[in-house]
Amino acid sequence: MKDTYTYQIGSNLYVNLTNRCSNRCTFCVRNGKERYEGYPLWLKGGEPTAEEVKQEIGDPTKYGEIVFCGFGEPTERLQTLLDICAYVHARGGKTRLNTNGHGSLLAGRNIAPELKGHLDGVNVSLNAPTEAEYAALCLPQIAGAFAGMLDFARACKKAGVNVWFSVVDCIGAEKVEECRKVASGVGIPLRVRPMIT
Ligand code: SF4
Repeated sequence: MKDTYTYQIGSNLYVNLTNRCSNRCTFCVRNGKERYEGYPLWLKGGEPTAEEVKQEIGDPTKYGEIVFCGFGEPTERLQTLLDICAYVHARGGKTRLNTNGHGSLLAGRNIAPELKGHLDGVNVSLNAPTEAEYAALCLPQIAGAFAGMLDFARACKKAGVNVWFSVVDCIGAEKVEECRKVASGVGIPLRVRPMIT
């Protein structure tokens, strides 16, 4: 069976660029699963090229948004992501990144200015209000993960990128409120989303 590079949910087309990720979130949809919404998202034959993804996207205006979100962290493949974004924008489409916010840590530089103009929206998973809780929930595999994620969101805002935080509601109302305070301290809106089971 062919690997899933892109998959449609509702009116959006999702791009599954990689299975690499700097977190091991305890709530991740890929834990113990082969499929998501019926799509096998483990890339058994390797990661797709930008050209392969562009071919599958075709005309991006057929979709509400082209969303970078799969069984891995899209910024692990920053240049491929930006290349695909340029293709989508050149054809009148819209782009969104769902990220754990570690892109700058992974690249070793502030990548926010590179995202400006390429992504119409960036959703950063905040997940927890403190470094200790983040570590317990997301099991980061990279040093400085929590602070790096907050710094990335701040840098996106500073660069003029449309950025917001998200949390999953399974952390409980009290923690959601604590996350709201963290988000408001950074000056970035928070969206609460239901946990995907
Ligand atoms: S950051 Fe996203 S892809 Fe990575 S483990 Fe967490 S939920 Fe899964």
